[in-house]
Amino acid sequence: MPEIKFINVSKYYNKGLVKAVDNLDLTIYDGEYLSLLGPSGCGKTTTLRMIAGLILPTSGQIKWDGKPIQHLSAAERDVGYVFQQFAIFPHLNVWDNIAFGAQVREYSTIEIEDIVKEKMSIVGLTEKANRYPTTLGAADLQRIGIARVLATGAQTLLLDEPMGALDYKIREKFQDELLGIVKKLELTAIHVTHDQSEAMAISDRIGVMKKGRMIQLGSPNDLLFNPTQIFTAHFIGESDFVEGVISNISDEIITVELSGDEKIIVPRNGQVRINPVLQKKVVVGFRREFCTIIDFDEELSGQNNILSGTVLSDRFLGEKRRTVVNIDYGRLIEIKRDPLEKSYTKGEMVMISIPTGNAFLFSKPQNGLEDALSVT
Ligand code: ADP
Ligand code: MG
Repeated sequence: MPEIKFINVSKYYNKGLVKAVDNLDLTIYDGEYLSLLGPSGCGKTTTLRMIAGLILPTSGQIKWDGKPIQHLSAAERDVGYVFQQFAIFPHLNVWDNIAFGAQVREYSTIEIEDIVKEKMSIVGLTEKANRYPTTLGAADLQRIGIARVLATGAQTLLLDEPMGALDYKIREKFQDELLGIVKKLELTAIHVTHDQSEAMAISDRIGVMKKGRMIQLGSPNDLLFNPTQIFTAHFIGESDFVEGVISNISDEIITVELSGDEKIIVPRNGQVRINPVLQKKVVVGFRREFCTIIDFDEELSGQNNILSGTVLSDRFLGEKRRTVVNIDYGRLIEIKRDPLEKSYTKGEMVMISIPTGNAFLFSKPQNGLEDALSVT
């Protein structure tokens, strides 16, 4: 499989008013499982369609193994497109649906038979060869879609929200299957999703996109534990953010004073994305699951990494308890807690404790925090 390289690629619509993809630089390596993750409208599908050759970039270049490919038609690119809405023929059984993939190439009848058998077995549909789509569940329909694309001989799979129509409960199993197939056949997969847990579970690398731009590209671990951008920390895992000003810097500790009297300290060798000597206005981010809620205690007030506020809601979500606290100067902080922990009632004064070393320090974005967090 070739290495696919985007060099400064943009795709604009409506005379440049819509920047569907904006100056994208991206290299997709042979054999990797790469996900493009981002909110609806951020340019994921447009990126896939440019790889497939279904649309051409407005500017920039896409190269395969260093060679420009704009002259290659979709059919010549050796990629297979798997859609969210299954592109299945309702009047054909499983076998014939998959065979269609092989028939678009000039294989002999015998070759086609071997190919269909093999692909059917890979996706686990051998027992259902004679079944018709109306008798199959959503996961099987998508298995047909994948087998058909494999039957074309495609070495690169382009998967556009391939689990969007699947029930939540079978998604995890389907993720395992899909990843297993891609790795076993040594394919390259480019998988588009807006579901961060799906991207985290399945990818070698994830590109987080927003408004046509690549915000951060890295391994799931990288994005979770080393977010370089506010949007990454917001979109991957669950974080909350508060604004503040750096009030003190020692050899080891940066102290941030928030709009209330509260202080959050961040180790200098921790998740610091700024030069604390030059930039004073900052945004502090912290992961919800690492924070704890404690009873209000006057004595703790003013201590580092303690925020105080009133409970807005405290609800059971099954696996987790979600507690929303309105901190003094009007920001809502959500904490995910163990469901067995103490419950709080609306209006109750509480404190949020943020473990030292847990916070991320970013510079205050030019257009403000809300803009940096916004998904559109
Ligand atoms: P995603 O797949 O991440 O949801 P898309 O790549 O489909 O996003 O779209 C990115 C942006 O480009 C959106 O604002 C969308 O409305 C716009 N867009 C996509 N295709 C077209 C088109 N053919 N004409 C005009 N605008 C388009
Ligand atoms: Mg899309």
